[in-house]
Amino acid sequence: LLLSYEPAKRLARLNIDLTTHLLGARMLFDLLDRPPVEVDAPGTPALRVEGGKIEFDDVFFGYRADEPVLRGLSFIAEPGRTTALVGPSGGGKSTVMSLLERFYEIESGTIAIDGQKITEVTRRSLRQAIGFVSQDVFLFSGSVRDNIAAGRPSATEEEIVAAAKAAHAHDFITGFKDGYNSRVGEHGAELSGGQRQRIAIARAFLKDAPILLLDEATAALDSESEAEVQKALYELQRNRTTLVIAHRLQTVINADRICVVEKGRVVESGRHDELITKRGRYFTFHQLQFAGQQERLSA
Ligand code: ADP
Ligand code: MG
Repeated sequence: LLLSYEPAKRLARLNIDLTTHLLGARMLFDLLDRPPVEVDAPGTPALRVEGGKIEFDDVFFGYRADEPVLRGLSFIAEPGRTTALVGPSGGGKSTVMSLLERFYEIESGTIAIDGQKITEVTRRSLRQAIGFVSQDVFLFSGSVRDNIAAGRPSATEEEIVAAAKAAHAHDFITGFKDGYNSRVGEHGAELSGGQRQRIAIARAFLKDAPILLLDEATAALDSESEAEVQKALYELQRNRTTLVIAHRLQTVINADRICVVEKGRVVESGRHDELITKRGRYFTFHQLQFAGQQERLSA
């Protein structure tokens, strides 16, 4: 099997259906350095998503026993709303996303979706309920069509095209000589960062999961590409519970709730204006991280 070789971490983000189809669980777990056995107890029910409310309650976790990463982290992401995680690098934001998909087991506390603990539902149903888009877009060697269809391998051609249109990707795809048959990945078409992201967004539209995780890019796309990607992302967020690791001031300002994550805890939460007025941790972080972006926005 040919995979365009990217860090195994990105593999962790693939829809598990795709990975098991393409790789076989054995190879996947070798790559990911994870426990090889991931079997649900017999009779485990599927997750039933209603609004898609996410609750972390007093979660403790470390990748290694002697190094705690989350230390009593709690927050609620309300159904259909956008919750932004902000804070210094290494604070535990990406870990929150990995734990929600149950790529690791927590030490204590609870993680629940619509009142169901994620440890008490099947992993498959859990991961089917969650879409993920990050700046590190994973494309495998194959056609553009195959790469979009990874979001839902049973999708029809019409559904794939509709997802590409929703992701503002259809026009550039049909501009390629081979259209949806164009090869990407190794020896394939050179795609720009913005085009890769829109393929990932098309994949997420096709998956149509009620919960969306976004690990936002800091690296600036060119401004035209960025505008297209942002439009597509806003549309993708509609009617989904969205958890976004936010690097753009605009995302934070638009979020329904901001959670400041520091040293494995949520140290402050609220809306942008409230938190600015409060002059606490968010205010300080904002000065460090976003002041430059603020000037550009108001210029
Ligand atoms: P953030 O996304 O807020 O920058 P992360 O969740 O990526 O923070 O990281 C939190 C801490 O966990 C950091 O100290 C990081 O080095 C560590 N960490 C993250 N991923 C792994 C991993 N797969 N194995 C071991 N340590 C990790
Ligand atoms: Mg991170």
